[in-house]
Amino acid sequence: MNFVNKEVVIIGGGPAGLAAALELYKKGIHDILIIEREKNLGGILRQCIHDGFGLTRFKESLSGPEYAQRFIDEIEKLKIPYITNTTVLSVTKDKKITAASKAGFMTWQAKAVILTMGCRERTRGALGIPGERPAGVFTAGVAQSYINLYNTMVGKNVVILGSGDIGLIMARRMTLEGANVKAVFEILPYASGLSRNIQQCLNDYSIPLYLSHTVTNIHGSSRLTGVTVSEVDHDLKPIPGTEKKYDCDTLILSVGLIPENELSLSAGVELDQRTKGAIVDENYQTSVDGIFAAGNVLHVHDLVDFVSLEAERLSDSVSIYLQNKNLPPSNVKIITSPEITYTIPQYVSGTKNFNLSIRAKEPLKDCKIEILQDGSVIKSVDMKTVIPAEMINMPVNYKLIQSEKDLEVMVKC
Ligand SMILES: Cc1cc2nc3c(=O)[nH]c(=O)nc-3n(C[C@H](O)[C@H](O)[C@H](O)COP(=O)(O)OP(=O)(O)OC[C@H]3O[C@@H](n4cnc5c(N)ncnc54)[C@H](O)[C@@H]3O)c2cc1C
Repeated sequence: MNFVNKEVVIIGGGPAGLAAALELYKKGIHDILIIEREKNLGGILRQCIHDGFGLTRFKESLSGPEYAQRFIDEIEKLKIPYITNTTVLSVTKDKKITAASKAGFMTWQAKAVILTMGCRERTRGALGIPGERPAGVFTAGVAQSYINLYNTMVGKNVVILGSGDIGLIMARRMTLEGANVKAVFEILPYASGLSRNIQQCLNDYSIPLYLSHTVTNIHGSSRLTGVTVSEVDHDLKPIPGTEKKYDCDTLILSVGLIPENELSLSAGVELDQRTKGAIVDENYQTSVDGIFAAGNVLHVHDLVDFVSLEAERLSDSVSIYLQNKNLPPSNVKIITSPEITYTIPQYVSGTKNFNLSIRAKEPLKDCKIEILQDGSVIKSVDMKTVIPAEMINMPVNYKLIQSEKDLEVMVKC
């Protein structure tokens, strides 16, 4: 096979891929190729026509397409090479990439590969909701693309399962398009979306949110006619006798995102069962030498601003890697207490400052996040509130790390 040599191949032209490409270019690395399977760059932002993007990065509220366009304009201006309508089929450990497009198969040999493939939505099948199989059950992102990209309304009487941000955004979007959104049901005892979205998408439109509730049956033959909703107990099991039927023609599922890691697995990248993304060090390098990951393929982000920042930090490391300056081995493992779902990175070298992204397991008030090594607290930050929907980002100075012993991240209330 004929492999075209490239310094860096970036898989996925969403916000993470675009930010990584731009930052690499600014660092003098110009032999880059972005490969995108959709017909345009921009990733999931293309269908997010609501505002609220860019508040951290640009200090203004942009729509998703506006935010993406700022990066695309720069990519065009700098003439950074990209190809669209091209799907990467495999990546190998030695960084050979195979992709398919209408033109046929293409192959590249890269010195470094950046994985920025984003994530996909959990579906009804993943939840195993019993009942009939009628039309009218959509994931929130699919409903969003029908309405925002294809100008096609998906239904009139709507029930939403899951209080993730996409579901909240769709509750408002469908209301504005004339649908009757009856309620949002969330299985957990707290909302999983950002507080600002609960206020702006539900409260402002008087859409009720029922916590500790889930859909336990789906009715209808060709089209959905209704759903049965039940209360759940502490173990998230439906409580018999609490069933209530809601008539509706549309059920929207906003029940989580899963990093798109088939390619990572084909390259032998080790995944973290908690994030479902790659295990990385502070350089965002995966367990495979020269393969890096950032954005939603690494862990699901709540805000795109943090996706861009993460991809830019990744580019610093990739540029050092490409200059044949070996990245130091990352032998310090980061372990977490039960109140924390995960951290990124999972390993550090202790030779470089790093950003620690922390996802809490449940809402907590007035607590401290502490990092310990060998039983001593090396960093402590007071937090008024901690909620799972909002990622905690904590800069850590490497000089605080005294040895190769594990770092332990814990929450104390
Ligand atoms: C509905 C919704 C609402 C949101 N609202 C907000 C908000 O209000 N504010 C905010 O800050 N953030 C919001 N976000 C989050 C933000 O959009 C994401 O965090 C961000 O888009 C993730 O960027 P990414 O580049 O990692 O992934 P993506 O944007 O998903 O991009 C990944 C790209 O990789 C491509 N790809 C995947 N596999 C392949 C392959 N095999 N070959 C080639 N290309 C491939 C995909 O086509 C895609 O273009 C929202 C997200 C959603 C879904």
